[in-house]
Amino acid sequence: MSSTLSEASVSDSSGPEARAAAEAVTPVFETLVVVGPGLIGSSVLRRAQQKGTLARTLIAVDVSPEVRARVEELGIADRVMADAAEAAALADCVMLCVPVGAMGPVAAQVLPAMRPGAVLTEVGSTKVSVIEAISPFLRPDVAYVPAHPMAGTEYSGPDAGFATLFEDRWCLLTPLDGTPPEALSAVRALWERCGARLREMTPAHHDRVCAIVSHLPHLLAFTICGTADDLADETRSEVLDFAASGFRDFTRIAASDPIMWRDVFLSNREALLEMLARFMEDAQAMARAIRWGDEDYIVDRIQRGRAIRKSLIENRQA
Ligand code: NAP
Repeated sequence: MSSTLSEASVSDSSGPEARAAAEAVTPVFETLVVVGPGLIGSSVLRRAQQKGTLARTLIAVDVSPEVRARVEELGIADRVMADAAEAAALADCVMLCVPVGAMGPVAAQVLPAMRPGAVLTEVGSTKVSVIEAISPFLRPDVAYVPAHPMAGTEYSGPDAGFATLFEDRWCLLTPLDGTPPEALSAVRALWERCGARLREMTPAHHDRVCAIVSHLPHLLAFTICGTADDLADETRSEVLDFAASGFRDFTRIAASDPIMWRDVFLSNREALLEMLARFMEDAQAMARAIRWGDEDYIVDRIQRGRAIRKSLIENRQA
C-alpha cells in the first residue's frame, strides 16, 4: 500500500489541491488482485484503467477459462490468472468479488498465500455472514476491510461492468474492532476514487438496512414475476403485451443473477424475514383500507411513497 496515498487520504491539512495532485500520481495500492471479474469486479478494473489511480498493477482471477479469455480480450487487467492463491501472493490488496456464498471458500484459498501487511477486502451484499465465513481464515498480519458498494445492474459477467458504476453511489464499510486504521483508509481511498460516497456502520446494521432497501425489493420482484407467470397462458401473454411501467420495473430487477440472489437471501435470512414480516403486515393494512374504502389511509401511504421518491431525487440516488 502506498504510504504517500494513505497520508494524503487521511490528512486534512494537505488541502484539496495538494491532495488532488498527490492522488493524480500515487495509486492506492501497488498490486490489486480482483477475484471474480464479473459486474462488480470488472467495474473496479475498468475504473482502475480509466483513472490509473487505484493500483499500479491489476490482476484479475477467474476460475473459468472462457471468462479469463474474455477479460484478456477486454484488456482491463495487466494479468489474468486462474489460481487465486498464486495471484494473492503478488498483491498488497486482494478484493473478493465472488457471490457471498463463495466468499468463505475463496478466502480460505487466498489468505494463507497473502503477504504480511497486505489488505483483504470484499464487496459482498451481506456482511454478518460473509464476515463469519471469512473470519476463521484471518491472519493477524493481514488486514480485513469488509465493504459493500451499493451499485449494480441486473446484468452479470465481465461484459456487464462499466467504469462509472460506482459514481455517486454509496459504498458501505463495516470495519471490525481489529481493522487497522491505515487499511481502512486505503480501502476508503480506493472507493472514493471509484466515485463512491462512503459510510461506516456495523455489519448487523448494514444487513438490516440492505434487507429493506435492496433484498426485500428483489424478493418482491421475483415473487410478482412468478405470480404473473403462474397465471393462465392467455393472461400471461396479456401481462407481457400490456406491461405498464410498474410491472416492467419489477421485471428489470427480477432479471438479476439467480446464484447471487439465492446467496444473498440465504445469508441475510433473519433480517430479510423480519423485513418481509413487517411488509406483509403493512400490505395487509393496505388491503384492509381498500376493502373498507379507507381513503385517508390509502392517500397517506401513497404520499409517503412520493416523499421517499422526492428525497431520493434530491439526494441524487434516483
Ligand atoms: P457476477 O457478475 O456474477 O460475478 C461473479 C464473479 O464471481 C464471476 O467472475 C464468477 O466467475 C466468480 N465466481 C462465482 N462463483 C465462484 C466460486 N465459487 N469461486 C470463485 N469464483 C466464483 O456477480 P456480481 O454482480 O459482480 O457480484 C459479485 C459480488 O458483488 C457478490 O458478492 C455480490 O453480492 C456483490 N454485489 C453485487 C451487486 C449487484 O447488484 N450485482 C452490488 C453490490 C455488491 P465465473 O463467471 O467464471 O462463474
